[in-house]
Amino acid sequence: MGKVIAVFNQKGGVGKTTTNVNLSACLAQLGKKILVIDIDPQGNTTSGFGIDKNSLESSMYDILLEESSALESIIDTECDNLQLVPSSTELAGAEIELTTLENREIILKNAIDSVKDQYDYVFIDCPPSLGLLTINALTAVDSVLIPIQCEYYALEGVSQLMNTIELVRNGLNPNLEIQGVVLSMFDGRTNLSIQVVDEVKKYFRGKVYTTLIPRNVRLAEAPSHGLPIIEYDPKSKGAEAYNDFAEEFLELEEDVI
Ligand code: ADP
Ligand code: MG
Repeated sequence: MGKVIAVFNQKGGVGKTTTNVNLSACLAQLGKKILVIDIDPQGNTTSGFGIDKNSLESSMYDILLEESSALESIIDTECDNLQLVPSSTELAGAEIELTTLENREIILKNAIDSVKDQYDYVFIDCPPSLGLLTINALTAVDSVLIPIQCEYYALEGVSQLMNTIELVRNGLNPNLEIQGVVLSMFDGRTNLSIQVVDEVKKYFRGKVYTTLIPRNVRLAEAPSHGLPIIEYDPKSKGAEAYNDFAEEFLELEEDVI
């Protein structure tokens, strides 16, 4: 049965989308069947896979507000084993439109439950906010994968993040777990990066992945070509890191192929 994971941190620019696109692509290349769901109205995961969010017949919006079935909005990507529910620009208004609906927090969960058995993993890319879209994601998932950027103030906002997880555990999703914490944009030449790794490891004892995702310009370039890093530049440091991360992820899941 598919495991459902939200890539979540309410801070923007910490590497959520980059992690979502590239971890998914690496796992798919390793043979896992993956569904990626983009609920960020910015649609960066959607465009990261080379999908034009302005020319979609059906998207996440239709699932949330038009009661269309999840199946109708799932599309293939260029990557084998990897399908996508794309975001669209309409999703920006969804947060407000959702407020009037009954069961507004569990629409995504219901949609995912109807398809998750067809996949090994379902990843949801969350927007950088704590609104109804994010609540829908946290309600729908088994666990959260938290990217943290190696920068000054890395832990700022983390207590709010943990409070949100606690709140959801106390209500809509008692079984919500922390999948793990992945450190992104690591620069081994700076003391700051090294300090951040120590601090984050102290805070999230035993939950931090050993693999560090380095700052790598190829990772930043890949989305403008609509490709995951392993397709765009498979020999880059970024590709190597996300491959290592995917392997570590599967080892900890005891799901090694
Ligand atoms: P979020 O989804 O949390 O807002 P993104 O994944 O979009 O964060 O990353 C923010 C910006 O940083 C993007 O422009 C992205 O291309 C870039 N970026 C992310 N990870 C790396 C990295 N490891 N090295 C270099 N640039 C990165
Ligand atoms: Mg993003």
